[in-house]
Amino acid sequence: MKTMQDIKSLTLEELKNEMALLGEKPFRAKQIYQWMHEKLVRSFDEMTNLSLSLREKLAKQYSFTALKQVCVQESALDGTKKYLFELGDGKLVESVFMRYKHGNSVCISSQVGCRMGCAFCASTLDGLERSLMPSEMLDQVYAITYLTGERVSNVVVMGTGEPLDNYDNLLRFLMLITDENGLHISQRSITVSTCGLVDGMRRLADEQLQITLALSLHASTDEKRRKLMPVANRYSIAELMEACEYYFEKTGRRITFEYALVSGVNDNLEDASELLFLIKGMNCHVNLIPVNPIKERDYVQSEASFITAFKNKLAKNGINVTIRREMGRDIDGACGQLRRRQKALQ
Ligand code: SAH
Repeated sequence: MKTMQDIKSLTLEELKNEMALLGEKPFRAKQIYQWMHEKLVRSFDEMTNLSLSLREKLAKQYSFTALKQVCVQESALDGTKKYLFELGDGKLVESVFMRYKHGNSVCISSQVGCRMGCAFCASTLDGLERSLMPSEMLDQVYAITYLTGERVSNVVVMGTGEPLDNYDNLLRFLMLITDENGLHISQRSITVSTCGLVDGMRRLADEQLQITLALSLHASTDEKRRKLMPVANRYSIAELMEACEYYFEKTGRRITFEYALVSGVNDNLEDASELLFLIKGMNCHVNLIPVNPIKERDYVQSEASFITAFKNKLAKNGINVTIRREMGRDIDGACGQLRRRQKALQ
């Protein structure tokens, strides 16, 4: 059987071509696109300005993704919500909704599982099952918009999965979510976080988008980085830094470096000095993340005094540095704590 086209992953232009092939008027494409990407409907049946026969024709021709909410947990600490969604094939992904002063933010997953193997991260424990389609990334934002009834202004691709390991679908997702005929989220309000796939970073730079690229650095020497992140065996820090410079050159967007502070592993002042040496003079921002414990590993969060000292060392040397405010830790919704199933379901 021929697999059906996933209609929500098509651009408006592509949809226009599809309508021409079906012998439909071009304006139908815009109507259908708006139903999917602006009004966020979950089936062809809800597209009430289309004739029943057209809706039936579409349903025969195309697949229509929609997520099922399996579970939602709300943090008692900060109101953050973590959703467990079921995809069309029964696989599960998690997404997180966070409320900030400057607007609402959604953290989405880009894959079911992850094959990057970072030592401190729960998302990679069972490896990669599959990558998400563009529509399935959109659906996480759409479902949360629909379920909360609130506008989402920021999207971070920092949930489960390595976005640059799903490059083409990621790019299409970025095009669709920023499209003026859809949710029209500004490129500047989107962050993509990578463990450092250099080829993908350079490719993304060449797209010249205005999104923020965040690099999960977590160590300032190759030797230390290799202990935490297998990807460090593939690319050296020197190569990563060149790719970051290249991204800035091409886009004018400063890089965010993410650095998870792990007690006794990468959190002393010597580490801070080495980091400083790496990034000095770069137009960047450092986001320190006190590591979030996961039960399968015994990494421990750095002491508050170490975190402050690390931060001050960077700040004193003119680096723009912040400590990430951890949202939703009590519901395992913080960085590195997302999994493909909920503990209750295991
Ligand atoms: N694969 C991408 C995006 C997902 S992880 C990446 O590696 O960037 C999002 C961020 O959370 C990354 O910076 C990741 O390194 C970090 N992270 C993973 N596990 C963590 C943990 N236990 N505590 C704190 N941060 C963690």
